[in-house]
Amino acid sequence: MKCNRHPDADATAICLQCGRALCPECAQEINDEIYCKTGPCAEKREKRVGYQRRAGGLAQIMGLVFIALGILAALLVGELVPSLFSIFAGLIVFIYGLFLEKQAKL
Ligand SMILES: [Zn+2]
Ligand SMILES: [Zn+2]
Repeated sequence: MKCNRHPDADATAICLQCGRALCPECAQEINDEIYCKTGPCAEKREKRVGYQRRAGGLAQIMGLVFIALGILAALLVGELVPSLFSIFAGLIVFIYGLFLEKQAKL
């Protein structure tokens, strides 16, 4: 396969954003991911990463709120089953948020 911009150069990578074939001169590597050096691909990636990071932070906060509500309900109402369910759901959301944030490394 040949580079998308240089018909003489062999492609060594494929852009993760747009799928074009890239030679070493056209490719840039960000955290083991390959993107076009020219064009909006790296920029789009940064937007996606920013969004993921915000979503991850939000999910962590929501998870903590669920956990806190579960603990509060257990203490105030004494209903253990709904409390455990809430704490469990909060943990899952919280861990998902950590995962999202980890994915969004720059
Ligand atoms: Zn690209
Ligand atoms: Zn090229």
